[in-house]
Amino acid sequence: KCHLESAKMLNLDSSVDASLNLQSRPDVLTCTYWKAAIIWEGMFDPSLYDEMHTMKGSSVALTVFAVGRYLDAYLHTFLNSSEQHFMVGLPVTYFVFTDMPEKVPNIKLSPLRSMKVIKVEKNSRWQDVSMMRMKSISDVIESHIRHHCTHVFCFDVDQVFTRRFGSEALGDSVALLHAHYYRLPKHLYTYDRNPNSKAYMETGDFYYHAAIFGGSWKNVKALTEACYQGIMEDKQNNVEALWHDESHLNKYMLLHKPSKVLSPEYCWDTSIGFRRDIQVTRLLWAPKYYDTLRTP
Ligand code: UDP
Ligand code: MN
Repeated sequence: KCHLESAKMLNLDSSVDASLNLQSRPDVLTCTYWKAAIIWEGMFDPSLYDEMHTMKGSSVALTVFAVGRYLDAYLHTFLNSSEQHFMVGLPVTYFVFTDMPEKVPNIKLSPLRSMKVIKVEKNSRWQDVSMMRMKSISDVIESHIRHHCTHVFCFDVDQVFTRRFGSEALGDSVALLHAHYYRLPKHLYTYDRNPNSKAYMETGDFYYHAAIFGGSWKNVKALTEACYQGIMEDKQNNVEALWHDESHLNKYMLLHKPSKVLSPEYCWDTSIGFRRDIQVTRLLWAPKYYDTLRTP
């Protein structure tokens, strides 16, 4: 059985997975060696998960950043689609971080859902915009989220929800398999291999995608604080990890194994083409316009 033995006693989310009897799937890996479930379509009953999390009183914070040109390019579509598909039925609070609060689209939210807009400075380097999210997220967990929400999910804005992204994805510590790497041999994973960086690692379990991570507020706070600390130490040492916050996230997840892993069904890039094991695509990469969006 794919669950952590002590989860039930500790009242962890893994006990939900245990009691709801996740099914296996013969064509893909559904369990890590440390017994965390890897969630694929067909493994779970959505309504049982929703019922269980409603009963437990789960409530979810979603953080998303739309700084500079990313706001006009992506935010409206992201929020509209998340209203359709993200944790429908559960209380959700959006935390939108932007340098232009006045430009955040006015979206009609369903009952139980609300939005907080938080102003952040616009870093001139896109790498810093991306990395500094770790600091802003840990701050907002401390000031707001820990008092109001049980769980946190952190998203890139350049994506679109297309199908249910529901409570089966909730866990104590949740990481996502990167769509471009989940079938590749480990030596092709793009970890940071510079021994001078805090993100340095030779090998790991999976290549996780930093476009989505989550967990209990406590765990996400620990994760974002640790990653931010690594990023700042690197700056002092004049190094930058190969894939920025993603490199630090991978290092953190190597040292602190996630309790749940999301399959690439939860963040798919259609340019990869057909894959038999991808049975639904719940969230899709939006087109990337790096040339125009990342120029200062
Ligand atoms: N971001 C932003 N403005 C920027 C750069 C990044 O708002 O100028 C945020 C946005 O949420 C974006 C995330 O940081 O989705 C990560 O950057 P990006 O999506 O460009 O990285 P990639 O998907 O290429 O790894
Ligand atoms: Mn992105």
